[in-house]
Amino acid sequence: MSNYDVVVIGSGPGGYVAAIRCAQLGMKTAIVEKYNTLGGTCLNVGCIPSKALLDSSEHFHNASHSFKEHGIDIKDLKVNFKQMIERKRGVVEQTCAGIDFLMKKNKIDVHNGFGSFKDKNTIQVTPEKGDSVELKTKNTIIATGSKPASFPFIQLDKKRVITSTEALELDEVPKHMIIVGGGVIGLELGSVYARLGSKISVVEYMDGIIPTMDKSLGKELQKNLKKELGFEFYMSHKVTEVKGEAKKATLKAENKKGELVELEADYALVSVGRRPYTDNLGLENAGVKVDDRGRVDVDGHLQTNVPGIYAIGDVVKGAMLAHKAEEEGVFVAEALAGQKPHIDHNLIPGVVYTWPEVAAVGKTEEELKAAGAKYKSGMFPFKASGRARASMDEKYGFVKILSDEVTDEVLGVHMIGPRCADLIIEAVVAMEYRATAEDISRICHPHPTFTEAFKEAALDATEKRALHI
Ligand code: FAD
Ligand code: NAD
Repeated sequence: MSNYDVVVIGSGPGGYVAAIRCAQLGMKTAIVEKYNTLGGTCLNVGCIPSKALLDSSEHFHNASHSFKEHGIDIKDLKVNFKQMIERKRGVVEQTCAGIDFLMKKNKIDVHNGFGSFKDKNTIQVTPEKGDSVELKTKNTIIATGSKPASFPFIQLDKKRVITSTEALELDEVPKHMIIVGGGVIGLELGSVYARLGSKISVVEYMDGIIPTMDKSLGKELQKNLKKELGFEFYMSHKVTEVKGEAKKATLKAENKKGELVELEADYALVSVGRRPYTDNLGLENAGVKVDDRGRVDVDGHLQTNVPGIYAIGDVVKGAMLAHKAEEEGVFVAEALAGQKPHIDHNLIPGVVYTWPEVAAVGKTEEELKAAGAKYKSGMFPFKASGRARASMDEKYGFVKILSDEVTDEVLGVHMIGPRCADLIIEAVVAMEYRATAEDISRICHPHPTFTEAFKEAALDATEKRALHI
């Protein structure tokens, strides 16, 4: 039996980062992972493989749609989908191997097997083959992540009615794919296949896509996906059945008028959210409580109701994002070492890696209105940005800044356009330091860059004095 200061269950971005920080701070640390590769959802079947396919498909789309405009002619352009998937596998393999290296470098013991609580201080690890081992520990960090959610009326056969995991491993480009749920996964993976030639039909329950983000972003993105990639949208539709057959998937839904809508495609991708994963974890053996949505219940310090047992990432409340899981991992490690770490969950940015990219931080306009806050709004469209015009003749997108009407403090930033996934960090830094819109408008931004749109939106929010509109 081994004795540890900390055992981390789950090796996703929450778990492996928590383990590294614990080890850096001198704690004897182990990590338990049920799969053979480390890295969790993010590295194996999430962020990394989806971005690999998004980038590959974007290259193809640009080569077939915008290269000609730039004076580049290519003959016989075609997709080698097998190679695209092979490359994605290679990227995943390399990234996961990097985590093995980091575990060794930080002298973290890796236990491959299913982890479960035997009691508050004992974790049983059951490998696929061979005997179980028991780890004694002073502290445990639950970082078991999430799995795709579904509904009883969806027959998820994982062949024709699939989740994101299978959508990242198809062996053909579908002619037609139905997407149930117009959230982040549906729109990102829908973009991959639409760029490669698939017809995409999104069926969404709400009246807007990416409904948890500022409404202006969903509207602009929907317009773009329809026009540029031919997406078909079925908004405000209540799905009642999704079924797979040998070579097709079918869907039934009710529209706003109560009429039946039926769709048929090669595949139906179910992307209606993810559920926290605590199956067979033995929480009851340690007395750990979950909340009404099945998430491990934690306090403001990410500690469960049992002292010494913490939980982080997708398995607890808050946004299901890799960087949120990482921040929480570092937070718990530093708290265990007696430090006083801090996370502002309001300042965790969200990004959708479609084209144009969507990114946001802070409060949405809808949230500010609901809270009765008095705010100003500044906006700058990318079509007025010299850099956007020079590089891709950008017709879509904008940066929107919301700031307090009296103090001018920035309360929320919402952007859609080229490289917004990277641009958003300037807003996060500004908000971490409680900058005003005027502060941003007085900072020199290099020309010609996409970042100028952020400064111009700040000028617009401050005194309606943007320079280039
Ligand atoms: P996970 O990454 O889910 O890791 C949990 C790990 O715990 C898994 O390896 C699991 O096998 C293991 N485990 C579970 N139970 C046990 C047990 N009992 N014993 C041992 N091991 C166990 N987020 C972003 O921020 N950016 C993105 O671009 C992005 N893209 C995504 C794309 C897709 C297709 C998907 C599905 C998700 C994406 N996400 C993205 C979300 C991101 O992957 C998650 O928020 C993140 O992985 C959560 O990290 P985690 O450490 O909490 O859990
Ligand atoms: P999501 O919550 O983003 O979107 C789910 C969508 O499904 C919503 O628009 C919702 O209204 C809709 N929906 C729910 N029930 C429905 C029904 N019965 N019929 C039709 N529509 C329905 O969830 P997701 O896209 O599955 O992604 C899961 C998680 O993974 C998200 O929380 C996200 O944070 C994370 N993720 C992040 C990224 C990123 O950061 N770029 C990428 C992929 C996934």
